[in-house]
Amino acid sequence: MTAKTYAIALLAGDGIGPEIMTVAQAVLMRVSQNFGFTLHFTPAPFGGQAIDLTGEPLPPETLALCRRSDAVLMGAVGGPKWDNHPRRPEQGLLGLRAGLGLYANLRPATVRPQLVNSSSLKPEIVSGVDLLVVRELTGGIYFGQPQGIFSEKKGERRGVNTMTYSESEIERISRVAFQAARQRRNQVTSVDKANVLTVSQLWREVVTKVAQDYPEVTLDHLYVDNAAMQLIRWPKQFDVLVTGNLFGDILSDEAAMLTGSIGMLPSASLGDGPGVFEPVHGSAPDIAGQDKANPLAQVLSGAMLLRYALQQTAAADRVERAVDQVLDQGYRTADIMAPGMTAVGCTQMGERLLAALEED
Ligand code: NAD
Repeated sequence: MTAKTYAIALLAGDGIGPEIMTVAQAVLMRVSQNFGFTLHFTPAPFGGQAIDLTGEPLPPETLALCRRSDAVLMGAVGGPKWDNHPRRPEQGLLGLRAGLGLYANLRPATVRPQLVNSSSLKPEIVSGVDLLVVRELTGGIYFGQPQGIFSEKKGERRGVNTMTYSESEIERISRVAFQAARQRRNQVTSVDKANVLTVSQLWREVVTKVAQDYPEVTLDHLYVDNAAMQLIRWPKQFDVLVTGNLFGDILSDEAAMLTGSIGMLPSASLGDGPGVFEPVHGSAPDIAGQDKANPLAQVLSGAMLLRYALQQTAAADRVERAVDQVLDQGYRTADIMAPGMTAVGCTQMGERLLAALEED
């Protein structure tokens, strides 16, 4: 039998992107060999690097490559070089989201025991936290019409945005959440503001209906103000949180900060075609090219790619375990350094990960 082969588009981007991507690619390559499948990587220009080459942050060839791939692994884009450029690297991100129809953003917040002291919250509150925020990404108040600043009688102006969700938009994001929960601990918390907002009443009704298709998953509902409090008060109660664009924007950053280390946070954006997997952090121009970057968020984004795009769950688990192994062995990049630990750069962290994959 021939090994299964997957096509992966590699958009390393700017700043530390290429350094951390080199590590992630090597780790994915090794784990695929160990688990008997093949990854075919194709790099393509994206972000500032693409502006320099073609004048466009998302050249049509790059988008076409992403569309025909099984998944996209992305680094980060942007930097001072392009801050005053008429085309911004970040426009490439929006173009990619729109071009691939990415309506679901998945952001896990996992507090690893080795890094429990990196959080600004007490260790007993955050230790063991392992939750996933599923945010609707292409609808809600950020896109609803009408929006704008309108002149009223007597010359007064009024700013307007409209929070709107259709049943089908709510249903598809709910299904992403329930399916993710089935790969985790079978618990979904839907976050809304149904006590005040009509759009949230429909949200709650549709999520409740979709839940009937996932009898093994328990569903509860929280108002967004309470969810914001509960995330700080007792975050361990959560498995999967699903919510709309605005609430998800805020709650996913709040959840991320439970971990306290930006260099450790992966994310996935999913649609009906290929998904995009990228670290939460940016291109860190202040440390680019110095071999100081923490590659673990990029590597963990690779693990999400294996889990959610390729359904290679065992390989994804193995990559996540390799991250725990190197942390257990005391290796730390500067951003997560602690007394008594061994300081390593980006490249050395990659070597340690490859060694960890060969253990046991
Ligand atoms: P940033 O996340 O790049 O950096 C914030 C701080 O965290 C910096 O001190 C940086 O050195 C540190 N940091 C980030 N990632 C790290 C890592 N892996 N290892 C060690 N330290 C790390 O945010 P910023 O400085 O606000 O933005 C820099 C550029 O990145 C800007 O051009 C911004 O627009 C862009 N950006 C891109 C994305 C993306 O591509 N998705 C996201 C956020 C910001």
